[in-house]
Parts: sequence; C-alpha cells; structure tokens
Amino acid sequence: MNQTKYYYNEDTCRYEVVVPSKRKRFFRAFFYLIGASVVASASLLAVFNYYPTPKEISLDAERHLLDQKWAYLDIQEKNIKNALSAMQVDDEDLREILELDSLSNDVREAGIGGSEIIDDESSENLIFRDQVVDQYKKIAKLKAQLSVQNLSFDTLSKYAEARDWTWSHIPAIQPVSHKDLDHLSTVYGMRMNPVLHRMMPHKGFDFMADKGTPIYATADGKVILARMTFGGFGNQILIDHGNGYETRYAHLQRANPFAVKEGDVVKRGQLIGYMGSTGRSAGTHLHYEVLKNGKQVNPIGYFQMELNPEAYDKMLELAKKNVSPMD
Ligand SMILES: [Zn+2]
Repeated sequence: MNQTKYYYNEDTCRYEVVVPSKRKRFFRAFFYLIGASVVASASLLAVFNYYPTPKEISLDAERHLLDQKWAYLDIQEKNIKNALSAMQVDDEDLREILELDSLSNDVREAGIGGSEIIDDESSENLIFRDQVVDQYKKIAKLKAQLSVQNLSFDTLSKYAEARDWTWSHIPAIQPVSHKDLDHLSTVYGMRMNPVLHRMMPHKGFDFMADKGTPIYATADGKVILARMTFGGFGNQILIDHGNGYETRYAHLQRANPFAVKEGDVVKRGQLIGYMGSTGRSAGTHLHYEVLKNGKQVNPIGYFQMELNPEAYDKMLELAKKNVSPMD
C-alpha cells in the first residue's frame, strides 16, 4: 500500500507530491528487506521441520528395510525349525522300523558354545550387538542340528541298503506255489524213513504236487549245485545265498530237471527246476532244506513272505494234516 504524501507549495500555490529524502528511502528499503528475510527464514524452518531431508528419507528407508529383513529372518528361522522337527519325527520312525536305537536329545540338540560364534572386532561396533549375537546363535544351532540330521539320514540309508541286501538273501518264501501244492509235510526231525523203514532224521520240509511242478528259488543267491547226485537226493539244486544261508531242492524230475545251471545268479521267486521223484524218494515231491552255516535248520521260520492270508491259510491247513515225509 503506497501512501503518496502531498504538501502545499506556497511558491507555486499548489499541492505537490512529497519526495522522501535519499536517507529515508534507504532505511525504508533496509527495514523492508530485513522483514522479508525474517519471514523467509521462518518459512524455511517450518518447511524443514515438517518435511524430512533426503538423508533422513534414505535412513528411514534403510531402517524399514532392516526391520523387514529382521522379521523375514524370524519367519525363516521358524520355518526351518518346523521342517527340522518333521525330519526328526521321520528319522525316529525309520529307526523304529529298522530296529535301531533312537538318537538322544543331547545329540539332536547339538550343543553350541556361544562366545566363539561372533567374537571378532567388527562386532564390537554393532549397535544391536546382543540381538545380532542372539540371532547368530540361533542360526548356528540350527545348522548344527541339520548336520546331525543329515548324518543320521545318511547312516539310516546305508543301513537300510545293507539290510535290504541281507533280507533279499534270506530264504523267505515257499519253493512251490500254493496253487500247485497238494500236500505239505512239515515233519522236521527224527521219524520213520518211508523208504528205508528205519528211524532217521528228516531235515527239511516235503512239498507234494504233480510231476513237473515248477520249483522256485526262495531267496537271491548263486546256484552252486544243479546235477544228479548219489546218496538220496537225486537231481538236486543247492543255492548259496551269501550270508551263511543255503537252500537245497531235492528229487527233481528225471528228464530236464533244471531251469538253471551251476554258477547262475538267481533272484527270489525265479524258476529253477521241476518236481519229480529221483533219488531215495517214496513218491513225487520236493524235499526242501534251509541250511545256516552248513547245518540244516527247521524251515518253518523261513516263510515270512507269504503273499496273502489265503495262501498262508492254505499252508497252515496242509501242515495240519501233517502227512509223512517222502524223503
Ligand atoms: Zn524230505
């Protein structure tokens, strides 16, 4: 608002505009500038107090990011813990199946010393040192527990592999199919010999069926004998199962008795020959023996793999009739 001032000029008899002196004009301009700069400074202060500086913005973003990373670490730690617990449960189940001792909690917990985890000079300057050390400890513990778990799985898988080999090499099925079987003699031990008519030990089971009935290997192994032998067994097959076990299949048919030859490697359930009555035999049957470390054992404990309950029932039913051995 510019207030123009006038004065009465007696010389000219007129009102004329008052022109301020130079000095006055200078002060007027000076005070005006001071006022303006005060207002400007105040406005700037207000602006900076209200809006963060670029540096503040970047620090804030960094903190936000760190918060998120920290929260993510917590979640990940929980996820790994849960996965580890599930693995430990599986591990214990496997140990039960394989009849192995369970791992003690001391071993599973994998105790870790704290101080050596983060002890270098660089950690001295950390603002949240305690929290960081705590997190380091948790992760180091998880790593140790996971490596214990890995080692355990490794051991279990090697053990299971070895056991599977052993299992497949132990006689565990019948050498004659149930559908072919007419009679079964489970008589094992001293009894009257049907051919020689005197008391003699019978060291196997006799499976009775038609001539030419297929005979199967009862476990994996190698055929070490497949020929006509003298001394009572006639055409016989002997299989070495490699872990102290052998099985004998005697009295095979006269013509084409063998489906394998000596030296052949056979699998459990593989056809090896045909039923007959060669050697000292009172009729068509298979004389079957299980030998452990060179000595006959009662085969009754070696039919674990009966495939279905009906088949098993048939075996029991036939065994109940308890017919005499045919040698
Ligand atoms: Zn017999």
